[in-house]
Amino acid sequence: MTKQGVAIPDNRRRIRLGLRAQILLGLAAVTLIAILTTGFLALWAAGNTLRAHRETEAVTLASAAARMASALVDRHGEIASYESREQLQAALSSLSERSGGIGFSVLSADHSVIAAWPPRSARDVDPPIANSVVAGIPPVLQYRNSPGDGATQLLAYAGIEVKGRVVGAARAVLDAPAPVQVVLRRSGWLLLGLVCADALLVLSLGYFVLTQMVVRPLREMERATAQVGVGDWDQHIDLSGPSELSALARAFNQMTSSLATQREQLIRSEKLASVGQLAAGVAHEIGNPLAAILGYVDILRADAASAGRLPDAERRDALDRVKAETQRINRIIRDLLEYSRPSHEEPSLIDPLLVVRSAQALLAPQARFREVRITVTPEGSSWPAVMVSQGRMTQVLVNLLLNAADAMDGKGQVAVTCESVAGRVRIAVGDEGPGIARELRRKVFDPFFTTKPPGQGTGLGLSISRSIVESYGGTLEQDPEAARGARFVIDLPAAASSSGTQELAP
Ligand code: ADP
Repeated sequence: MTKQGVAIPDNRRRIRLGLRAQILLGLAAVTLIAILTTGFLALWAAGNTLRAHRETEAVTLASAAARMASALVDRHGEIASYESREQLQAALSSLSERSGGIGFSVLSADHSVIAAWPPRSARDVDPPIANSVVAGIPPVLQYRNSPGDGATQLLAYAGIEVKGRVVGAARAVLDAPAPVQVVLRRSGWLLLGLVCADALLVLSLGYFVLTQMVVRPLREMERATAQVGVGDWDQHIDLSGPSELSALARAFNQMTSSLATQREQLIRSEKLASVGQLAAGVAHEIGNPLAAILGYVDILRADAASAGRLPDAERRDALDRVKAETQRINRIIRDLLEYSRPSHEEPSLIDPLLVVRSAQALLAPQARFREVRITVTPEGSSWPAVMVSQGRMTQVLVNLLLNAADAMDGKGQVAVTCESVAGRVRIAVGDEGPGIARELRRKVFDPFFTTKPPGQGTGLGLSISRSIVESYGGTLEQDPEAARGARFVIDLPAAASSSGTQELAP
């Protein structure tokens, strides 16, 4: 905002993500959250199972050590001989090797170590726990940090029974790293692979579904709307996608067909307005030949009443003049009728020179064209063909010529020229009037913009002429470099005939 509170348009270019990219980003975020949550739950469950499994294993190992010891100690918990101690130590060593336990020890009721593997693993006995085992009271499981490296260890105790009496305790020590870490260490890569594959699958499916169901129909709609924007009103979208988009397509189709109908009506009513103007001119114009005809008829009647005193040649001359004037009236009315009749509006291959000639013929009898000279260049040979409706193009030229005559107050020269440039045909209508003020150059094409007095202008001529030309893939512009007066240029694609694009004869 400026100090005066006027908003300044933000001209910085913003990067706008497409609909598909935005939805896919959202989908990626949701997928990630879903995968992380599920992964965490799965890890937690796997960790719990692992922990339970490890505790069972520890108890089993401690019980196995206790059973071995019970066979070698007496009922006071004493080891019978040196050999028995060696034997027990060897049994503990082999149990440790087979099971992966990191230490086993056998204690008497007074906590003295009877045997241990490895030998120093019995130094850290926890007397209260050992006591409670000997007394037959749980707990038999204990987690602790290793006195050496601080790693977590699981300790399981089992009572040594001799003849139904607990005479000591056996202890198994196992490594017990955090279960989640263990699961990750074992299957981390597999999990990562699954996560990536899952995300890839969701994103590619999302991409495919979005492209098929949303992006493609929207592109089709964008294309059709752009076509309507350049004057191609015959746009019909056929969509079998999601119901919302089909409803949008139906609404679009209804809109284009109703716009096309309204446009047809507008073109027709503008044409009728120009027919009205021309008819007023014609009514005035046929007064002269009618007066001449009446004069000749009076002469011939008087001659008939006086029993034919006129020489034959004069009588024939009077009759020829009557015929010529009647033919002139007939031609004027026929041209006007032809112009006002709803014409065949389908485009066909047309020589623009013929269109110029028919517009000229229609306007020639008009009083306001009496002192207007229309020059047509090049003359005498056909112009490059264009694909248009002859009736519509005549309407455009009549409009431009009427405007030119009005601008020159019915006096001056109008130059109609045609040139062919790079596959385009350019027809220009230039007059010697005052031209169009720079600030009005765009406005004159606005519907209902007119500078003419009420009843003389509808303000629709140029806007409808432009829309007609655009519907044939052309443009109607004002030449900003016109040397004098106003110059309007119709630019149309040259129609490719079977022998290629027709060129102007030199
Ligand atoms: P209308 O002729 O009914 O006014 P148009 O759309 O044909 O409607 O023209 C709009 C306005 O453009 C005219 O009122 C006039 O002011 C201006 N104009 C059109 N053609 C010319 C011309 N050849 N010279 C000067 N002004 C023109």
